[in-house]
Amino acid sequence: MQDGGAGVTEIKKFGPLPESRCPQCSYKMTGATNCTGSGAPFPGDVSICLNCGQILCFQDDFTLRKVNAAEIADLMSDASQWAVIEKAQRIIYAEGHSHD
Ligand SMILES: [Zn+2]
Repeated sequence: MQDGGAGVTEIKKFGPLPESRCPQCSYKMTGATNCTGSGAPFPGDVSICLNCGQILCFQDDFTLRKVNAAEIADLMSDASQWAVIEKAQRIIYAEGHSHD
């Protein structure tokens, strides 16, 4: 497999990720917790705010944005993936992270 090197993004395991704030609650996130065990995040991967449970998406620069309605519908269409998201949200809501 050749890639020539040009324009290749090298992704190190779990970062360092650029500092990113949750667009919903402004919670500062500098790392990622992987729910599904597939390794480092990639652009387009789904993340969840550890503070408010907002479903987020990694952009090309690894900052986070909210997912839109169409993306949520897409996530819900994958039952196993949606189950992971719902489980994570339940844990976040239950713990009610308030150590800010
Ligand atoms: Zn948040």
